[in-house]
Amino acid sequence: ARTLRIGLIPGDGIGREVIPAGRRILESLPSSLNLNFSFVDLEAGYDTFKATGTALPDKTVDILKKECDGALFGAVSSPSTKVAGYSSPIVALRKKLDLYANVRPVKTTAGSSNGNPIDLVIVRENTEDLYVKEEQTKETPEGKVAEAIKRISERASSRISTIAGEIALRRQNIRTAAPGTSNRTSPMVTITHKSNVLSQTDGLFRETARKALAAQKFSSVHVEEQIVDSMVYKLFRQPEYYDVIVAPNLYGDILSDGAAALVGSLGLVPSANVGDGFAIGEPCHGSAPDIEGKGIANPIATLRSVALMLEFLGEENAAAKIYAAVDGNLDDAKFLSPDMGGEATTEEVLNDVLKRL
Ligand code: NAD
Ligand code: MN
Repeated sequence: ARTLRIGLIPGDGIGREVIPAGRRILESLPSSLNLNFSFVDLEAGYDTFKATGTALPDKTVDILKKECDGALFGAVSSPSTKVAGYSSPIVALRKKLDLYANVRPVKTTAGSSNGNPIDLVIVRENTEDLYVKEEQTKETPEGKVAEAIKRISERASSRISTIAGEIALRRQNIRTAAPGTSNRTSPMVTITHKSNVLSQTDGLFRETARKALAAQKFSSVHVEEQIVDSMVYKLFRQPEYYDVIVAPNLYGDILSDGAAALVGSLGLVPSANVGDGFAIGEPCHGSAPDIEGKGIANPIATLRSVALMLEFLGEENAAAKIYAAVDGNLDDAKFLSPDMGGEATTEEVLNDVLKRL
């Protein structure tokens, strides 16, 4: 049996209500998977900042690096006005652990969608592009001019494209293990860029992605490309068409938030921050102060984030079981949380999913 050590970082607000659900589903996986888990509770977030002066204690980073195979991150509250010394712990974690890919699956279930189910994943480069934050403002005779560097490297474009190809192949395996949730038959990657205008930066991204996805191991993956503005149009007109979408940082940011709007609730959408040999599962939603403490947060984004983390730790079968149990809960629609129009509590949704494992 394999034992995985998982760092649990609930953070703030409903992070503290959904991360325990994530732990429970790991503890409840069938023993036939031969998979055991040990857990370590770790601190980060705005409350940690208020108590200690840092939102991401060194101890949290050290333990993740030295002891853990993966982690689950809940949500953090960010102050609405700038607070001296505060910076987002998840952004810092991505840097410190070199989690260079942000992966966001967006999915409807067969029963809950009118028309074809949506089942796509956006793979966003997470280390460069305009987010290197090298900006400057100049005074000119015509007034101020601000400029920013958009940095695209061969290395980052290549590794993000490789991970996109690997995800496409793996999704195929997971569909086989948990059938009935998608009608897609062969894996596809869509490269998103604007190289018609930005021939050097986005041109390099496009060319490098093409090269990476031409590798022998991706011979079964159909590769397409789409200019980012028409990508947005097609994503909203025909979301069921897409499988894996790979994009540089800024386009990926916008596409992933936009795509999340294609499904019913933020409480359904998972994500993972992925590097070589490490993955942090993280629901897309925030700390939801409006429902904090009521016990009604939807745990499904977190449960799907657990499955996503397991995929990147090489446990496809365990991930497929969780995805299928969650889809079963949604299709059955007897235990839905209030954000989904139901009346079930976090605990009741969780118990219904666990019953279906
Ligand atoms: P939010 O995602 O916390 O909430 C938006 C709306 O969605 C709220 O009405 C909330 O009740 C609902 N919602 C979110 N998750 C839900 C769930 N699991 N179940 C049921 N309903 C859910 O976004 P916000 O209100 O804009 O931000 C609140 C705080 O969270 C802010 O401090 C913000 O900075 C922070 N935030 C953090 C992250 C993150 O940690 N990744 C992301 C977004 C916002
Ligand atoms: Mn965003």
